[in-house]
This record gives sequence, C-alpha cells and structure tokens, in this order.
Amino acid sequence: MTVERSNHSTGFIAKEMPPRVILTSMDWEADGKQHGYLSVPYSSDDSAWGAVRVPITLIRNGEGPCVLFTGGNHGDEYEGPIALRKLATALEADDFRGSAIIIPALNPPAVQAGTRVSPIDGVNMNRSFPGKRTGSVTKMICHYVSTRLLPEADAVVDIHSGGKTLTFTPFAAMHYLEDPDQFEQTKAMMHAFAAPISLVIEELDTEGMFDGVVEDTGKPFIFTELGGGGTVTPQTVAIAERGIINVLRHFGIYHGEPMDFEKEEVPPTRMMATPDGKSYTISDETGLFEMVVNLGDSVEEGQLLGRIHSIEKTEIPPSLYFAHRSGELIGRHYPGLARPGDCLAVIAIDDE
Ligand code: CA
Repeated sequence: MTVERSNHSTGFIAKEMPPRVILTSMDWEADGKQHGYLSVPYSSDDSAWGAVRVPITLIRNGEGPCVLFTGGNHGDEYEGPIALRKLATALEADDFRGSAIIIPALNPPAVQAGTRVSPIDGVNMNRSFPGKRTGSVTKMICHYVSTRLLPEADAVVDIHSGGKTLTFTPFAAMHYLEDPDQFEQTKAMMHAFAAPISLVIEELDTEGMFDGVVEDTGKPFIFTELGGGGTVTPQTVAIAERGIINVLRHFGIYHGEPMDFEKEEVPPTRMMATPDGKSYTISDETGLFEMVVNLGDSVEEGQLLGRIHSIEKTEIPPSLYFAHRSGELIGRHYPGLARPGDCLAVIAIDDE
C-alpha cells in the first residue's frame, strides 16, 4: 500500500521558496497520494498576510507519463470540479504507473462565488494565460500553471462546461494544429476521452487561453464543454468521470479494476467540427431570447434558429436569427435574455 497524506492536516511547510511568488506544500517527486495546495499571496481587508489556496492532488507511482487535469478554470462550470474532486478521493496510487496532477478548482475564488471570472480581481482566467508572476491572484495562478506545472505534464485535460450563459451537447474538443504528430496524438486523447461528441474546433476568441500555452509546447491538450446552465446532470458528471479514467488508461497510467461507470455501455464518440465562423450565430440586439430549435436538432443553412423580442416596444417585430450553415445544433445561449455580442447558437458538422 503506498502512502496517502494530506498537507492540510500537517500544516503548511513550503517546499518551494522564492523566486516563485506562489508557494506550495507539495513534494512533486514523492510517490503515493498527496493532498495539498498552492498558496497564492493575497493581502486583503480580511487577511493582511493572507493567501488564496488552490487545492491540488498528486497521485504518483514511479516513473511514467503525467497528465494534468484541471477544472474550475471558470467558476460556474461544475462537471470538472465535481468529477475531479470525486476521483481525487477515490483513486489510489497503487493502481498507477506514472502520475496525475488533479486540480478540481483552478480558480477557487471564482468557484466559491459561482462566477465565470474571479470576483477578487475581475479576471477571466482563460483569457489570462500565460499569466504574470507578480500579477493579480488569477494571473499568478496562470503563471504557476504555465511555468511550474505544465513542464511536469505530458498532456493536459482542461474540463469546462457552458457555465450560466451557455449550454452544450457534451463534447471534448481540440483545435486545428499545424504539427501533424501533435494533431494525431491530441486526436487520439480526445477519442479516448470518449465524450458523446469529439469536436475539432475553430474558436471565436483564443487570446490568453490555457489551450494555446499548452499547444505551443507541442503537448496534447483537450478541453471539454460538458453541459451548462450553471449546473450538472447525472449524465454530464458521468461523462467527465469516465473521460478522465479513459485518458488515464489511454496513457497507461491507471490500471485499477473497472469503475461502475466504466461498465456501462456508451455509444461511440461522434467526430464533428466547427471549421469556421459560420458555425456561430451572434446576437445584435437586447431582448427576450426565444430559441426555436433544440440542442441535437439538425438544421439547414438559412433556417430560423431563434428570435429576440424587444422588451420596450410591442410594435417592433422580433429580430430573426438564422443558421449560417447546415449541421447540428450543439450549443446555445442559455438565459432567457440576450444582449448584443452574445453567442446564440453553435452549429457543428460531421467530420470524417
Ligand atoms: Ca469555460
């Protein structure tokens, strides 16, 4: 039986000293399971010499591949934090060859507040990579991940969902990559995750994302969008749990007995793509948002997707929003109100 220990119960002993601003109690070389945290200095009205703690679990058993799993990059997306939190408790180092670094809540102030961006510095973590050594709390976490954790990892899985303002048919995703080897390795990891949809995605807005920082190192990176609306379902949590275990098995890291959710029959993942901007329909108005198609519906180019009704004037007809391509609706704006610039609909096409 390998050792399991908690740095929480034994008190904080910094294993790393400056020049890093973030300190940690973790011993990255030790075998076994460690529960600890990153300590991010945050001097506030509530705590003059205080810190934000980022909980972290390292499960390691000897040399071998290492996968970094992150959830709670955005604070209103829950499948990642829940599934990673459960597996951090359930997985045992004896069943490992290699290691996993598990961070269920990468941006704890945002997760604690249930908000996309951090309430203490107003920063959207996934637009702030590679971060800044002496920046605000969120930027310091990004910097630590980029400079200290990423070099430890052979691959990264960043678990997102739609949050309060979007909802998706659950998918794992990767970007179009120039290096063919990196593309194939990443695609194999995405396949292994085995979400209902595996999506090759061209995104609207990529500056400052974790994705690009990992991709620039040549390592495989996938992310997910597993649901949304600011909550979870039994199905979306199971997809996250199964996907994490699938990736660990894919890299030969996890050798444990099949978990209950692994024994269930699941349909094969479906390869899809959002190859360009025609996959997105964007709002131009403020008003009541009436979607007229459902997630999973097939739509034709030019088909009506939704209407936005003026709240102030009854004489104005609704603004109509159409599909810019034929395909399947895999994502939609979730709230009943829309504003200019909101992404209202995401349409994917079958790939292969
Ligand atoms: Ca997200």
